[in-house]
Amino acid sequence: MSVNVPENIVPLDNILPEEPLLMMGAGPVPIPSRVAAANSIVINHLGDTLARVIEQVKSMTHYVFQTRSPHVLGVAGPGSAAMEMAIVNLVMPGDVVLSVCNGFFSGRLAEMAERNEAKVVRYNVPDREFARADEVERLLEEHRPRVLTIAQGETSNTVYNRELPAICRAASAHGCLVIVDAVCTLSTMPLEMDEWGIDAIITGGQKGLSSIPGVSLIAFSERAWEIAGDTDRHMRHWVLDARLADQFWYKKSYHYTAPVSGILAMHEALRLICHETLPLRFQRHYRHSIALQRAVEVMGLSLYVPEEARLNSVVGIRVPDGVQSKDVLAYMSKRYRVEISGSFGAPIVRIGQMGEQSRAHNLFRTVHALGSSIKAQGKKVDVPAGVAMLEKTLEKFAYGDV
Ligand SMILES: *Cc1c(COP(=O)(O)O)cnc(C)c1O
Repeated sequence: MSVNVPENIVPLDNILPEEPLLMMGAGPVPIPSRVAAANSIVINHLGDTLARVIEQVKSMTHYVFQTRSPHVLGVAGPGSAAMEMAIVNLVMPGDVVLSVCNGFFSGRLAEMAERNEAKVVRYNVPDREFARADEVERLLEEHRPRVLTIAQGETSNTVYNRELPAICRAASAHGCLVIVDAVCTLSTMPLEMDEWGIDAIITGGQKGLSSIPGVSLIAFSERAWEIAGDTDRHMRHWVLDARLADQFWYKKSYHYTAPVSGILAMHEALRLICHETLPLRFQRHYRHSIALQRAVEVMGLSLYVPEEARLNSVVGIRVPDGVQSKDVLAYMSKRYRVEISGSFGAPIVRIGQMGEQSRAHNLFRTVHALGSSIKAQGKKVDVPAGVAMLEKTLEKFAYGDV
Protein backbone atom coordinates (compact mmCIF):
# COMPACT_ATOMS: atom_id res chain seq x y z
CA MET A 1 0.00 0.00 0.00
CA SER A 2 1.50 3.30 -1.04
CA VAL A 3 -1.32 5.58 0.10
CA ASN A 4 -1.85 5.81 3.84
CA VAL A 5 -4.98 6.50 5.85
CA PRO A 6 -5.37 10.30 5.66
CA GLU A 7 -4.59 12.18 8.84
CA ASN A 8 -6.78 14.80 10.46
CA ILE A 9 -10.10 13.36 9.33
CA VAL A 10 -12.77 14.49 11.77
CA PRO A 11 -16.33 13.22 12.21
CA LEU A 12 -19.08 15.12 10.40
CA ASP A 13 -20.28 16.47 13.73
CA ASN A 14 -17.07 18.48 13.90
CA ILE A 15 -17.75 19.98 10.48
CA LEU A 16 -21.47 20.63 10.47
CA PRO A 17 -22.68 23.62 12.48
CA GLU A 18 -24.47 22.80 15.71
CA GLU A 19 -27.53 24.61 14.43
CA PRO A 20 -27.94 24.27 10.67
CA LEU A 21 -28.48 27.40 8.60
CA LEU A 22 -32.02 28.12 7.46
CA MET A 23 -31.72 27.56 3.72
CA MET A 24 -33.56 30.49 2.13
CA GLY A 25 -31.50 30.84 -1.04
CA ALA A 26 -32.02 29.65 -4.60
CA GLY A 27 -31.85 25.96 -3.60
CA PRO A 28 -31.36 23.44 -2.16
CA VAL A 29 -34.27 24.18 0.16
CA PRO A 30 -35.23 22.73 3.56
CA ILE A 31 -36.95 19.35 3.38
CA PRO A 32 -39.89 18.10 5.47
CA SER A 33 -39.00 15.50 8.09
CA ARG A 34 -40.90 12.80 6.20
CA VAL A 35 -38.76 13.41 3.15
CA ALA A 36 -35.62 13.25 5.30
CA ALA A 37 -36.79 10.01 6.93
CA ALA A 38 -37.55 8.40 3.55
CA ASN A 39 -34.12 9.44 2.33
CA SER A 40 -32.46 7.40 5.08
CA ILE A 41 -33.86 4.08 3.80
CA VAL A 42 -32.22 1.71 1.33
CA ILE A 43 -34.30 -1.02 -0.33
CA ASN A 44 -33.87 -3.40 -3.26
CA HIS A 45 -33.84 -1.44 -6.52
CA LEU A 46 -35.72 -4.14 -8.45
CA GLY A 47 -38.12 -5.59 -5.89
CA ASP A 48 -41.89 -5.32 -5.60
CA THR A 49 -41.64 -2.66 -2.91
CA LEU A 50 -39.83 -0.17 -5.11
CA ALA A 51 -42.12 -1.13 -8.02
CA ARG A 52 -45.13 0.00 -5.99
CA VAL A 53 -43.36 3.20 -5.00
CA ILE A 54 -42.48 3.90 -8.65
CA GLU A 55 -46.12 3.43 -9.72
CA GLN A 56 -47.17 6.03 -7.17
CA VAL A 57 -44.34 8.40 -8.10
CA LYS A 58 -45.53 8.29 -11.71
CA SER A 59 -49.19 8.89 -10.77
CA MET A 60 -48.30 11.79 -8.53
CA THR A 61 -46.01 13.23 -11.20
CA HIS A 62 -48.98 13.15 -13.60
CA TYR A 63 -50.80 15.38 -11.15
CA VAL A 64 -47.91 17.76 -10.47
CA PHE A 65 -47.02 18.10 -14.20
CA GLN A 66 -50.73 18.09 -15.17
CA THR A 67 -50.21 15.42 -17.81
CA ARG A 68 -51.51 11.98 -18.72
CA SER A 69 -48.36 11.12 -20.59
CA PRO A 70 -47.16 7.53 -20.10
CA HIS A 71 -43.57 8.70 -20.45
CA VAL A 72 -42.60 9.93 -16.99
CA LEU A 73 -39.04 9.04 -16.04
CA GLY A 74 -36.83 9.63 -13.02
CA VAL A 75 -33.18 10.54 -13.41
CA ALA A 76 -30.33 9.86 -11.00
CA GLY A 77 -28.71 13.23 -11.26
CA PRO A 78 -29.18 16.97 -10.79
CA GLY A 79 -31.72 19.09 -12.61
CA SER A 80 -29.01 19.54 -15.23
CA ALA A 81 -29.02 15.77 -15.91
CA ALA A 82 -32.76 15.98 -16.65
CA MET A 83 -32.06 18.99 -18.90
CA GLU A 84 -29.40 17.00 -20.72
CA MET A 85 -31.75 14.02 -20.98
CA ALA A 86 -34.35 16.18 -22.71
CA ILE A 87 -31.75 17.59 -25.11
CA VAL A 88 -29.92 14.40 -26.05
CA ASN A 89 -33.14 12.48 -26.63
CA LEU A 90 -34.91 15.15 -28.68
CA VAL A 91 -32.17 17.08 -30.48
CA MET A 92 -30.27 15.48 -33.36
CA PRO A 93 -27.05 16.85 -34.81
CA GLY A 94 -27.92 19.46 -37.43
CA ASP A 95 -31.34 20.27 -35.94
CA VAL A 96 -32.28 23.91 -35.61
CA VAL A 97 -33.04 24.73 -31.97
CA LEU A 98 -34.55 28.01 -30.82
CA SER A 99 -33.35 28.76 -27.29
CA VAL A 100 -35.11 31.44 -25.32
CA CYS A 101 -32.28 32.80 -23.18
CA ASN A 102 -33.09 34.92 -20.13
CA GLY A 103 -30.02 34.06 -18.13
CA PHE A 104 -27.73 31.40 -16.79
CA PHE A 105 -29.98 28.33 -16.74
CA SER A 106 -31.89 28.91 -19.96
CA GLY A 107 -28.48 29.60 -21.51
CA ARG A 108 -27.32 26.20 -20.26
CA LEU A 109 -30.03 24.51 -22.34
CA ALA A 110 -28.73 26.35 -25.40
CA GLU A 111 -25.19 25.26 -24.62
CA MET A 112 -26.28 21.65 -24.22
CA ALA A 113 -28.04 21.76 -27.59
CA GLU A 114 -24.91 23.24 -29.15
CA ARG A 115 -22.74 20.49 -27.68
CA ASN A 116 -25.18 18.07 -29.25
CA GLU A 117 -24.33 19.67 -32.60
CA ALA A 118 -27.58 21.51 -33.10
CA LYS A 119 -27.73 24.84 -34.92
CA VAL A 120 -28.82 27.00 -32.04
CA VAL A 121 -30.64 30.28 -32.56
CA ARG A 122 -30.67 32.30 -29.34
CA TYR A 123 -33.44 34.70 -28.47
CA ASN A 124 -31.51 36.79 -25.96
CA VAL A 125 -34.23 38.40 -23.88
CA PRO A 126 -33.20 41.83 -22.52
CA ASP A 127 -32.30 41.82 -18.85
CA ARG A 128 -35.26 42.06 -16.44
CA GLU A 129 -37.83 41.39 -19.18
CA PHE A 130 -39.91 38.31 -20.00
CA ALA A 131 -39.75 36.55 -23.38
CA ARG A 132 -42.41 37.89 -25.77
CA ALA A 133 -44.65 35.42 -27.59
CA ASP A 134 -44.77 37.65 -30.69
CA GLU A 135 -40.98 37.69 -30.93
CA VAL A 136 -40.92 33.89 -30.55
CA GLU A 137 -43.56 33.66 -33.30
CA ARG A 138 -41.34 35.75 -35.59
CA LEU A 139 -38.29 33.60 -34.86
CA LEU A 140 -40.32 30.41 -35.47
CA GLU A 141 -41.31 31.77 -38.89
CA GLU A 142 -37.80 32.83 -39.72
CA HIS A 143 -35.81 29.81 -38.53
CA ARG A 144 -38.29 26.90 -38.54
CA PRO A 145 -36.68 25.20 -35.50
CA ARG A 146 -37.45 21.57 -34.59
CA VAL A 147 -37.12 22.23 -30.86
CA LEU A 148 -37.61 25.26 -28.62
CA THR A 149 -36.07 25.48 -25.15
CA ILE A 150 -37.22 27.82 -22.39
CA ALA A 151 -37.20 28.15 -18.60
CA GLN A 152 -40.52 29.03 -16.97
CA GLY A 153 -38.61 30.90 -14.29
CA GLU A 154 -34.99 32.00 -14.67
CA THR A 155 -33.51 31.51 -11.21
CA SER A 156 -30.28 33.38 -11.94
CA ASN A 157 -31.84 36.82 -12.43
CA THR A 158 -35.33 36.13 -11.08
CA VAL A 159 -37.32 36.63 -14.29
CA TYR A 160 -40.64 34.91 -14.98
CA ASN A 161 -41.67 34.05 -18.53
CA ARG A 162 -45.34 34.85 -18.14
CA GLU A 163 -46.13 34.28 -21.83
CA LEU A 164 -45.08 30.63 -21.70
CA PRO A 165 -48.56 29.27 -22.62
CA ALA A 166 -48.73 31.47 -25.74
CA ILE A 167 -45.14 30.56 -26.63
CA CYS A 168 -46.02 26.83 -26.38
CA ARG A 169 -49.08 27.36 -28.58
CA ALA A 170 -47.05 29.18 -31.21
CA ALA A 171 -44.42 26.43 -31.20
CA SER A 172 -47.07 23.69 -31.55
CA ALA A 173 -48.60 25.53 -34.49
CA HIS A 174 -45.18 25.40 -36.18
CA GLY A 175 -44.66 21.71 -35.40
CA CYS A 176 -41.84 22.61 -33.03
CA LEU A 177 -41.25 20.59 -29.85
CA VAL A 178 -41.08 22.56 -26.59
CA ILE A 179 -38.71 21.70 -23.73
CA VAL A 180 -39.59 23.56 -20.52
CA ASP A 181 -37.22 23.87 -17.58
CA ALA A 182 -39.48 24.04 -14.53
CA VAL A 183 -36.80 23.35 -11.93
CA CYS A 184 -37.48 26.39 -9.74
CA THR A 185 -41.16 26.86 -10.50
CA LEU A 186 -42.78 23.41 -10.43
CA SER A 187 -45.51 23.18 -7.80
CA THR A 188 -45.09 26.85 -6.87
CA MET A 189 -47.21 28.23 -9.74
CA PRO A 190 -49.45 26.85 -12.49
CA LEU A 191 -47.86 24.69 -15.18
CA GLU A 192 -50.04 22.59 -17.50
CA MET A 193 -48.08 20.13 -19.57
CA ASP A 194 -50.95 18.73 -21.66
CA GLU A 195 -53.12 21.83 -21.80
CA TRP A 196 -50.25 24.09 -22.92
CA GLY A 197 -48.79 21.48 -25.27
CA ILE A 198 -45.39 21.05 -23.62
CA ASP A 199 -43.28 18.18 -25.01
CA ALA A 200 -40.76 17.76 -22.23
CA ILE A 201 -40.80 19.07 -18.68
CA ILE A 202 -37.72 18.97 -16.52
CA THR A 203 -37.46 19.38 -12.80
CA GLY A 204 -34.93 18.79 -10.05
CA GLY A 205 -35.69 17.61 -6.52
CA GLN A 206 -34.20 20.39 -4.42
CA LYS A 207 -36.34 23.41 -5.31
CA GLY A 208 -40.12 23.66 -5.71
CA LEU A 209 -40.61 20.02 -4.75
CA SER A 210 -38.67 20.31 -1.46
CA SER A 211 -36.92 16.98 -1.85
CA ILE A 212 -33.20 16.23 -1.91
CA PRO A 213 -30.83 17.26 -4.70
CA GLY A 214 -29.65 14.52 -7.06
CA VAL A 215 -32.90 12.87 -8.14
CA SER A 216 -34.86 14.56 -10.90
CA LEU A 217 -37.96 14.01 -12.99
CA ILE A 218 -38.71 14.37 -16.68
CA ALA A 219 -41.81 13.69 -18.78
CA PHE A 220 -42.07 13.42 -22.56
CA SER A 221 -45.28 14.00 -24.53
CA GLU A 222 -46.48 11.36 -27.04
CA ARG A 223 -45.23 13.59 -29.83
CA ALA A 224 -41.80 13.83 -28.21
CA TRP A 225 -41.74 10.08 -27.52
CA GLU A 226 -41.99 9.36 -31.26
CA ILE A 227 -38.45 10.71 -31.36
CA ALA A 228 -37.12 9.89 -27.87
CA GLY A 229 -38.52 6.35 -27.97
CA ASP A 230 -37.52 5.58 -31.56
CA THR A 231 -35.66 2.25 -31.40
CA ASP A 232 -33.78 2.88 -34.67
CA ARG A 233 -32.22 6.06 -33.44
CA HIS A 234 -28.48 6.18 -32.87
CA MET A 235 -27.71 7.37 -29.36
CA ARG A 236 -24.27 8.12 -27.99
CA HIS A 237 -25.39 8.39 -24.40
CA TRP A 238 -26.13 5.36 -22.32
CA VAL A 239 -27.17 6.58 -18.87
CA LEU A 240 -29.39 9.31 -20.32
CA ASP A 241 -30.97 7.16 -23.05
CA ALA A 242 -34.73 7.54 -22.47
CA ARG A 243 -35.41 4.15 -24.10
CA LEU A 244 -33.23 2.41 -21.49
CA ALA A 245 -34.73 4.48 -18.66
CA ASP A 246 -38.16 3.38 -19.92
CA GLN A 247 -37.07 -0.23 -19.30
CA PHE A 248 -36.76 0.54 -15.63
CA TRP A 249 -39.62 3.02 -15.18
CA TYR A 250 -42.23 1.02 -17.15
CA LYS A 251 -40.98 -2.55 -17.59
CA LYS A 252 -39.46 -3.32 -14.17
CA SER A 253 -36.14 -4.30 -15.64
CA TYR A 254 -32.62 -3.14 -14.92
CA HIS A 255 -31.12 -0.03 -16.43
CA TYR A 256 -28.77 1.21 -13.69
CA THR A 257 -29.18 0.92 -9.93
CA ALA A 258 -31.87 3.45 -9.22
CA PRO A 259 -31.19 6.01 -6.44
CA VAL A 260 -33.66 4.19 -4.20
CA SER A 261 -33.38 6.48 -1.18
CA GLY A 262 -33.81 9.56 -3.33
CA ILE A 263 -36.83 8.04 -5.05
CA LEU A 264 -38.38 7.31 -1.65
CA ALA A 265 -37.69 10.94 -0.69
CA MET A 266 -39.25 12.14 -3.95
CA HIS A 267 -42.29 9.97 -3.23
CA GLU A 268 -42.82 11.68 0.10
CA ALA A 269 -42.27 15.15 -1.38
CA LEU A 270 -44.86 14.44 -4.08
CA ARG A 271 -47.27 12.91 -1.59
CA LEU A 272 -47.14 16.06 0.55
CA ILE A 273 -47.93 18.12 -2.56
CA CYS A 274 -50.90 15.88 -3.41
CA HIS A 275 -52.08 16.18 0.18
CA GLU A 276 -51.87 19.97 0.09
CA THR A 277 -53.29 20.08 -3.48
CA LEU A 278 -51.86 22.29 -6.20
CA PRO A 279 -54.35 25.17 -5.97
CA LEU A 280 -53.68 25.65 -2.26
CA ARG A 281 -49.97 25.24 -2.77
CA PHE A 282 -49.95 27.90 -5.50
CA GLN A 283 -51.92 30.24 -3.23
CA ARG A 284 -49.50 29.71 -0.36
CA HIS A 285 -46.50 30.46 -2.56
CA TYR A 286 -48.15 33.52 -4.08
CA ARG A 287 -49.26 34.93 -0.74
CA HIS A 288 -45.89 34.49 0.89
CA SER A 289 -43.90 35.79 -2.03
CA ILE A 290 -46.02 38.93 -2.35
CA ALA A 291 -45.77 39.52 1.39
CA LEU A 292 -41.98 39.15 1.16
CA GLN A 293 -41.77 41.58 -1.76
CA ARG A 294 -43.84 44.23 -0.01
CA ALA A 295 -41.84 43.85 3.18
CA VAL A 296 -38.56 44.28 1.29
CA GLU A 297 -39.79 47.44 -0.42
CA VAL A 298 -41.19 49.08 2.68
CA MET A 299 -37.85 48.55 4.43
CA GLY A 300 -36.38 50.88 1.80
CA LEU A 301 -34.82 48.24 -0.46
CA SER A 302 -35.75 47.67 -4.08
CA LEU A 303 -36.67 44.61 -6.07
CA TYR A 304 -34.57 43.83 -9.11
CA VAL A 305 -37.21 42.92 -11.68
CA PRO A 306 -40.29 45.04 -12.56
CA GLU A 307 -43.52 43.44 -11.42
CA GLU A 308 -44.66 42.29 -14.88
CA ALA A 309 -41.59 40.07 -15.30
CA ARG A 310 -40.92 39.22 -11.68
CA LEU A 311 -40.53 35.63 -10.58
CA ASN A 312 -42.27 34.78 -7.32
CA SER A 313 -40.40 31.58 -6.54
CA VAL A 314 -37.01 33.32 -6.33
CA VAL A 315 -37.01 37.02 -5.45
CA GLY A 316 -34.09 39.26 -6.49
CA ILE A 317 -33.32 42.22 -4.22
CA ARG A 318 -30.94 45.03 -5.12
CA VAL A 319 -28.03 45.54 -2.78
CA PRO A 320 -27.76 49.28 -1.94
CA ASP A 321 -24.86 51.17 -3.52
CA GLY A 322 -21.64 50.80 -1.59
CA VAL A 323 -22.67 47.49 -0.03
CA GLN A 324 -21.15 44.19 -1.14
CA SER A 325 -23.62 41.32 -1.38
CA LYS A 326 -21.04 38.88 -0.02
CA ASP A 327 -20.79 40.95 3.18
CA VAL A 328 -24.57 40.86 3.59
CA LEU A 329 -24.66 37.09 3.03
CA ALA A 330 -21.80 36.47 5.46
CA TYR A 331 -23.39 38.63 8.15
CA MET A 332 -26.77 36.94 7.71
CA SER A 333 -25.33 33.46 8.10
CA LYS A 334 -23.05 34.27 10.98
CA ARG A 335 -25.35 36.46 13.02
CA TYR A 336 -28.80 35.11 12.16
CA ARG A 337 -28.05 31.63 10.76
CA VAL A 338 -30.07 32.36 7.66
CA GLU A 339 -28.57 31.64 4.28
CA ILE A 340 -29.66 33.35 1.07
CA SER A 341 -27.97 33.51 -2.34
CA GLY A 342 -25.79 35.96 -4.18
CA SER A 343 -26.09 36.19 -7.92
CA PHE A 344 -24.45 35.46 -11.25
CA GLY A 345 -23.32 39.00 -11.95
CA ALA A 346 -26.32 41.21 -11.17
CA PRO A 347 -25.98 43.47 -8.07
CA ILE A 348 -28.57 41.46 -6.14
CA VAL A 349 -29.17 38.90 -3.44
CA ARG A 350 -31.85 36.26 -3.94
CA ILE A 351 -34.39 34.82 -1.52
CA GLY A 352 -36.14 31.58 -2.47
CA GLN A 353 -39.84 30.93 -2.04
CA MET A 354 -39.90 27.28 -3.02
CA GLY A 355 -41.61 24.53 -1.06
CA GLU A 356 -40.67 24.64 2.62
CA GLN A 357 -39.11 28.08 2.22
CA SER A 358 -42.59 29.40 1.69
CA ARG A 359 -43.69 29.30 5.34
CA ALA A 360 -44.61 32.38 7.37
CA HIS A 361 -42.20 31.63 10.23
CA ASN A 362 -39.28 31.29 7.80
CA LEU A 363 -40.22 34.59 6.17
CA PHE A 364 -40.30 36.57 9.39
CA ARG A 365 -36.86 35.29 10.28
CA THR A 366 -35.48 35.99 6.81
CA VAL A 367 -36.90 39.51 6.41
CA HIS A 368 -35.59 40.46 9.82
CA ALA A 369 -32.17 38.94 9.10
CA LEU A 370 -31.88 40.60 5.68
CA GLY A 371 -32.95 44.04 6.91
CA SER A 372 -30.72 43.93 9.97
CA SER A 373 -27.73 42.69 7.99
CA ILE A 374 -27.93 45.49 5.42
CA LYS A 375 -28.40 47.98 8.24
CA ALA A 376 -25.24 46.58 9.82
CA GLN A 377 -23.39 47.61 6.64
CA GLY A 378 -24.26 51.22 7.48
CA LYS A 379 -27.37 51.67 5.32
CA LYS A 380 -30.71 53.02 6.41
CA VAL A 381 -33.17 50.12 6.55
CA ASP A 382 -36.51 50.22 8.35
CA VAL A 383 -36.59 46.69 9.73
CA PRO A 384 -39.69 47.08 11.96
CA ALA A 385 -41.66 48.44 8.99
CA GLY A 386 -40.68 45.37 6.98
CA VAL A 387 -41.73 42.94 9.67
CA ALA A 388 -44.99 44.86 10.19
CA MET A 389 -45.72 44.83 6.45
CA LEU A 390 -45.11 41.11 6.33
CA GLU A 391 -47.59 40.59 9.13
CA LYS A 392 -50.12 42.98 7.62
CA THR A 393 -49.95 41.46 4.14
CA LEU A 394 -50.27 37.91 5.38
CA GLU A 395 -53.24 38.90 7.50
CA LYS A 396 -54.96 40.71 4.61
CA PHE A 397 -54.55 37.62 2.46
CA ALA A 398 -56.07 35.54 5.22
CA TYR A 399 -59.18 37.71 4.97
CA GLY A 400 -59.13 37.68 1.18
CA ASP A 401 -58.54 41.41 0.85
CA VAL A 402 -55.33 42.42 -0.89
C1 LIG B 1 -31.35 25.03 -10.21
C2 LIG B 1 -31.79 25.11 -11.59
C3 LIG B 1 -31.27 24.26 -12.59
C4 LIG B 1 -30.13 23.30 -12.34
O1 LIG B 1 -30.39 22.36 -11.38
P1 LIG B 1 -29.15 21.51 -10.83
O2 LIG B 1 -29.80 20.51 -9.92
O3 LIG B 1 -28.25 22.47 -10.14
O4 LIG B 1 -28.49 20.89 -12.00
C5 LIG B 1 -31.76 24.38 -13.86
N1 LIG B 1 -32.72 25.26 -14.16
C6 LIG B 1 -33.25 26.09 -13.25
C7 LIG B 1 -34.33 27.05 -13.66
C8 LIG B 1 -32.81 26.04 -11.94
O5 LIG B 1 -33.33 26.86 -11.03
